[in-house]
Amino acid sequence: WQRLSDRINHVAPSATLAVDSKAKAMKASGIDVIGFGAGEPNFATPAPIVAAAAEAVQDPKNYRYTPTPGLPELREAIAAKTLRDSGYEVDPSQVVVTNGGKQAVYASFQILLDEGDEVIIPTPYWTSYPEAVKLAGGKPVEVFAGADRGFEPSIESIEAARTERTKAIIVNTPNNPTGAVWKPETVKAIGEWAIEHHIWVISDEIYEHLNYDGAKTTYIGAAVPEVRDQLLVLNGVAKTYAMPGWRVGWMIAPAEVAKAASKLQGHMTSNVNNISQRAAIQAVSGPLDAVYEMRAAFDKRRQAIVAALNDIEGVNCPTPTGAFYAFADITALLGKPLGPNGTVAHTSSEFAAAMLDEAHVAAVPGEAFGAPGYLRFSYALADDQLAEGMRRMKAYVEA
Ligand code: PLP
Repeated sequence: WQRLSDRINHVAPSATLAVDSKAKAMKASGIDVIGFGAGEPNFATPAPIVAAAAEAVQDPKNYRYTPTPGLPELREAIAAKTLRDSGYEVDPSQVVVTNGGKQAVYASFQILLDEGDEVIIPTPYWTSYPEAVKLAGGKPVEVFAGADRGFEPSIESIEAARTERTKAIIVNTPNNPTGAVWKPETVKAIGEWAIEHHIWVISDEIYEHLNYDGAKTTYIGAAVPEVRDQLLVLNGVAKTYAMPGWRVGWMIAPAEVAKAASKLQGHMTSNVNNISQRAAIQAVSGPLDAVYEMRAAFDKRRQAIVAALNDIEGVNCPTPTGAFYAFADITALLGKPLGPNGTVAHTSSEFAAAMLDEAHVAAVPGEAFGAPGYLRFSYALADDQLAEGMRRMKAYVEA
């Protein structure tokens, strides 16, 4: 008898979490691993946010469930923050607080898709998108754009992928895994195309504040105001405020979708951890000073890692202007002997496995993002770790 469902059997495990957990397990067994795998800021959550949580945990009123879509004060603060950062108004009733941005991604497809509906996913993509689509019975449709296009999809390639089953498209800028910040024209064109063809837009804005070299996040709801009636904005505190473990994210959507998200959440998780929501109020309504400090540190690492990667023979890494990832082309290294044992990797997946086993450097293979031949390096780690990891990789490749 088939013990597990087809649904779960057809879902791939999260490759990014897999690399990270293997690296953590190696570390736990005493191996000195340098981890470029996790998309997790290495900073501590800023003190005022921690203080808000510490205060909240003393108050028994916060030991209770919160309303399913979130604390009213937090939904209001998220609406205010959206006006501040994205430049347009949303009603707090449109905000649903979720257990991280990831739950908002999952919920979006559960709410919008029927069996066989298609979702256009600009590729390279964040690893969870296609799996969340499949879990909702949908069909992921990849539209690839490589380094030659700055990893930005053309509207022609998107239109070529459209069928009568196309229900939604994902926009993720600044982008994971490429670090690309899409041009305003690209974002605008997608918004206008979506309106013309009655297609939902799911805009994942979790890296909104992490921009470098003067790049700016284009908010599709601001660039194309008419799209707001068919727009789901996804966001969260994990990356901006160094709060990955607090598990607070949100969706902003038209009223009918927000109600549906709340209905789904009512059966799935009831609500997000009360104390975490109190901390998130402080995070989203506080100043962005700490965020800018972290961004300055990321910027230095970004420059260091791009220079170090391009200094390795056979590695080609375009300069990203957003998020905290460098996405390097390593196709020239495939089929060549690596390290003291002369190990040969034929795919980026084999390369990542060999580099982790033999050089103790963890990076996520492009296969996890629909882009074989690349490796993703998260530079959300300490400067000395970054330098040591790059030294090891260079020695491994050029041995
Ligand atoms: N969206 C993107 C593009 C991400 O990279 C991540 C985390 O890696 C998330 C959403 C979800 O983050 P969280 O669930 O920690 O809020």
